[in-house]
Amino acid sequence: MQKEGNNTKVVGIEKKVNKFIKVTLKKIIYFFLYYIYITPFLNIILNNIKKDFPCIILLYHRIVDGKSIYLNKGPVVQHQVKDFKREIRYLVKYYNLINIETAIQHLREGKRFSRPSIVISFDDGYLDNYWLAYPILKKYRIPATISIATSLIGTNERTWTDQIEFAIMETKKDRFKLSELFGDETVRIRTRKEKEYANIRIAEALKLMPDQTRQNIMEKIFYILAVEKNAIKNEKARRMLNWEEVKEMAQGGITIGSHGHSHSILSRMEIHRAKEDILTSKKIMEEKLGTKVKHFSFPNGREEDFSENLRDYCREIGFESVASVVYGVNDPFNGNVFSIKRIGARSPVWMLAGELVRLLVRTN
Ligand SMILES: [Zn+2]
Repeated sequence: MQKEGNNTKVVGIEKKVNKFIKVTLKKIIYFFLYYIYITPFLNIILNNIKKDFPCIILLYHRIVDGKSIYLNKGPVVQHQVKDFKREIRYLVKYYNLINIETAIQHLREGKRFSRPSIVISFDDGYLDNYWLAYPILKKYRIPATISIATSLIGTNERTWTDQIEFAIMETKKDRFKLSELFGDETVRIRTRKEKEYANIRIAEALKLMPDQTRQNIMEKIFYILAVEKNAIKNEKARRMLNWEEVKEMAQGGITIGSHGHSHSILSRMEIHRAKEDILTSKKIMEEKLGTKVKHFSFPNGREEDFSENLRDYCREIGFESVASVVYGVNDPFNGNVFSIKRIGARSPVWMLAGELVRLLVRTN
């Protein structure tokens, strides 16, 4: 028994080492390809010799600057604004940046693109999308899409994953035990690195649970960390957009999509509650914005976080596309506008540039 446990541990460590080597190698290759101008050159070649491209939809969440105090959740979740600027300048130079409407229309009509084409999308509706991303998008006239979770807009509320972050940042404790997620293990949260690691581990474990169980464990986390959950409401700094900002961006060429109402993982809810969540967000948005809301991106975005039944429901109530975070390009020949794939935007620019060229070379 002991031996079996040790073997599993060794295999686990081996896997981690292999992954680390793979990721490091990829970074080195992308870095050099970019700085010796191979990546930009490949972009130019592809633009000239191919006349037939699928559509790539990039996904961003938060844009941060020196004043931001978020725990780091990895390069796909948050981008420094200086990196974002460089990424946008690169994309403008080598890609055709289109809006979601054009992308959906092409996919529906079975048409590919004559140039490498990208839609820029944001999920969740963070305030920094307005303060940091929107001025850059406006400057370059980029028709991005921002999908918002309506219960969070204009409030001091946080997404449930950001609530975990709040508990970890506010607690005076430097370790905790939580048998429901980690058995006997003592999880340390003294240093910032330890807090970031614990934050990711808790969120990933909770994402697998039914919504009600997840809520119960969240209550317990606040209890064992001795943090008052209601204190979130009294935070001075607002994290999410308000309706005025959403409206201003909608008038400025940004497509506003729905990301559900509560930001709960919809496949972990009872089906009638999940449908109600989707419909509520659509109704609220259409009332506030005075236009039809046609695009939906479901919270957490993995295949298992949604269902066929909910896809049909989205179609029934008038959505024209449903986006996931399933990795890949969108090809009209085998694509489905109710199963849009997206690529988490990498940072810094040489990572993004390398990843995009790799995708184009592989899929053409
Ligand atoms: Zn989200």
